[in-house]
Amino acid sequence: METTAVRGRLTWQAATVASVTRETASVVTIELDPPHWPGHRAGQHLDVRLTAEDGYTAEREYSIASAPGEPVAITVERLEDGEVSPYLTGELLAGDELELRGPVGGYFVWEPGEGGPLMLLAGGSGIVPLRSILRHRLRVGSDVPACLLYSSRSWEDVIYRDELGQHGDGVRVSYTLTRSQPAGWTGHSGRINQALLAEVAWPAEANPLAYICGPTSFVETAAAGLVGLGYSPERVRTERFGGTGGH
Ligand SMILES: Cc1cc2nc3c(=O)[nH]c(=O)nc-3n(C[C@H](O)[C@H](O)[C@H](O)COP(=O)(O)OP(=O)(O)OC[C@H]3O[C@@H](n4cnc5c(N)ncnc54)[C@H](O)[C@@H]3O)c2cc1C
Repeated sequence: METTAVRGRLTWQAATVASVTRETASVVTIELDPPHWPGHRAGQHLDVRLTAEDGYTAEREYSIASAPGEPVAITVERLEDGEVSPYLTGELLAGDELELRGPVGGYFVWEPGEGGPLMLLAGGSGIVPLRSILRHRLRVGSDVPACLLYSSRSWEDVIYRDELGQHGDGVRVSYTLTRSQPAGWTGHSGRINQALLAEVAWPAEANPLAYICGPTSFVETAAAGLVGLGYSPERVRTERFGGTGGH
């Protein structure tokens, strides 16, 4: 059985695009309907492959935005000089087909039985797998407390803004805006640093389980910061999206 499942995950398949929803000026969520999907875990990703008419192919990884049991979705941020993301965010339409393979990854995954408290740190589109984790927590009725610190360039760039505001009691959400802040902004400003983490994060004594995702430099600063606060390194899980990042 396992062999069949593994083979299934490693095989490319053409998924129909069920919908494309705009999240921000540069970000869309793409819901996909793959013919064979073994199910996914919160925090996993999938591979997307584009093939040009001349046969040239480009592959990229995208975190799965939806919770286990929900239709498969990815959320993609457009990078102006990018090869793949401008197509996914600007040209792909409902009804098109997209080649994918997955789900992939077993490390950056949260299962409710692992408990918490959860310390989630997102830089830009790094919110995507953390959104899957938060939705999963909600869907299974987990009462594990969660704290999310989300670094974004501006308020307009915050992805899933309405949804994140609706998690209610057990989830504390803080934002830091690095480039511009709306008038009357009472949240944090500037890039994450040790002082901000010390103010926002669960204390190390609570033995939190941390998930950090975003551009490489964001992830490295955040992980070093949590370990500096006394978090146990083996409970700090990281996912690097690449790039130097402006978050
Ligand atoms: C495990 C994993 C999960 C990912 N999940 C997501 C996701 O959920 N949503 C999402 O939008 N992206 C995600 N990414 C990033 C994604 O795979 C692509 O790297 C991204 O879409 C850029 O591809 P591109 O072809 O448009 O740009 P490219 O043509 O590959 O690169 C264009 C330029 O942008 C730089 N660059 C590449 N990646 C980034 C980045 N992340 N930030 C800033 N600059 C970058 C490159 O160095 C280059 O200069 C994930 C990456 C990994 C490894």
